[in-house]
Amino acid sequence: MTATDTAVQITGFYLNGAWERPEGRTQGNVTNPATGAVLATVPYANEADVDRAVRSAHEAFLKWREVPVVERVQVLYRYKMLLEQHAVEIAAILTRENGKTADDARAEVRRMIQMVEVACGMPSLMMGDSLNDVAAGIDCKTIRQPIGVCAGITPFNFPAMVPMWMLPFAIACGNAFILKPSEKVPLTPTRAVELLHDAGLPPGVVTLLNGAKECVDALLHHPLVKAVSFVGSTPVAKYIYTTAAAQGKRVQALGGAKNHLVVMADADMAKTVEAIIGSAFGAAGERCLAGSVLVPVGDAAGPLLDLLVKRTKSLAVGDGSQPGIEMGPLVTSDHCKRVDGYIEKGLAEGATPLVNGRECRPAGEGFFLGPTIFDNVKPEMTIARDEIFGPVLSVIRVNTLDEAIDLVNHSPFGNATAIFTSNGKSAREYSSRIEVGMVGVNVGVAAPMAFFPFAGWKNSFFGDLHAHGKDAIGFYTEQKVIMSRWF
Ligand code: NAD
Repeated sequence: MTATDTAVQITGFYLNGAWERPEGRTQGNVTNPATGAVLATVPYANEADVDRAVRSAHEAFLKWREVPVVERVQVLYRYKMLLEQHAVEIAAILTRENGKTADDARAEVRRMIQMVEVACGMPSLMMGDSLNDVAAGIDCKTIRQPIGVCAGITPFNFPAMVPMWMLPFAIACGNAFILKPSEKVPLTPTRAVELLHDAGLPPGVVTLLNGAKECVDALLHHPLVKAVSFVGSTPVAKYIYTTAAAQGKRVQALGGAKNHLVVMADADMAKTVEAIIGSAFGAAGERCLAGSVLVPVGDAAGPLLDLLVKRTKSLAVGDGSQPGIEMGPLVTSDHCKRVDGYIEKGLAEGATPLVNGRECRPAGEGFFLGPTIFDNVKPEMTIARDEIFGPVLSVIRVNTLDEAIDLVNHSPFGNATAIFTSNGKSAREYSSRIEVGMVGVNVGVAAPMAFFPFAGWKNSFFGDLHAHGKDAIGFYTEQKVIMSRWF
């Protein structure tokens, strides 16, 4: 049995190396955001499904941890080749269920593959330290060992890349991994797991469960699940962190964001505008790194906004699978209505619409909103505080860099930010004083590559070790110190 049929697909679970299509479960629909058409139905795993999955993953873990790391990564080398061969196909699935443009989808698949590439280096990455003669005739070394069954719960906005922040690192370290992707976009992760099966991964080392809260709660409470990685909104991240930690599990929970883009008057305005467009309206603003508040400093506002409004009005909005489209739809009808509600709120609270996304949305059944820019936004307004997760940019004007830093540091979020300037001193000062996890200097989407760690600060992250990079090895292994003396 394969994972899916065509036409209206039924996605399944991948459990103990085989695909299942469970019946009698609660189901959800997957829609194409560009057309509103139903693409698939998804059965949601219940507590008994989770228990069965975790037990089979645990059995697989007991064998997999004995496989030498150099052999474990051979599966990932084969997987990387398969992902390369199927990159165009995966990107097309991604656009169909998530709505992002073909360019954004291809860029995401590239990032997905880079995660696997980095995890292929696990024989070097997992090495410990050693020192002989720490005392007379005594040697000391550290080793890293896998921790057991690890679970990953992921959001709708990067269904190819975010699961790979976790999966390749977890299994290369010798763990078993259970993926619970967003129920809104299960088709991309399903294809990713089909290819992992084709790469020859032993049964049970990776499990795919679709589902919602019941499935997540069962994972959080299962005693054989030793670690939980989560990426999603802040309220759920906080819930996952507190619940799993109370069960004694290791947790990393990456949450939501409200990212500020600070522009100094000495910035290269033409290049800055292109970077802001990509940051605020790329992936229809459905990125945790998306710029959501624009902070022009002093005289920057006039020239910046003139150029930005002109360019924003020229953005091609439509079905992301079509050539030339620069911004696709929002993921679901509900999410589109929610973002529309924020435009309503901005108008009601007295912000000035420079571009109103309601007036430039394509006709049809898709979940479209055009890009929106509000000027004269005050820090206390709802649109300045809440994560909107859509193509709505709020402009808060300030007079000095100090004021900008103060504004950003008062946000309860601390995921990403950027400063645009040609002055090294301003850039250095901003990067140093800002209470944010990922900072761009003339870079609108400061997304760390696979070999660097990824996470925010404050309400954007709950935990200690960040996603991917060297932190992933720390997260997915337990350290042991061995002292030896030979008589
Ligand atoms: P979400 O929090 O609604 O869902 C994320 C995952 O949690 C999904 O798998 C979902 O099934 C599950 N879930 C949802 N509600 C739950 C509940 N009450 N109990 C248990 N599980 C639950 O997030 P989303 O809408 O899919 O994704 C968008 C959010 O993700 C945004 O807030 C965005 O900023 C954030 N995000 C953050 C990062 C980051 O690196 N910090 C990256 C990508 C997305």
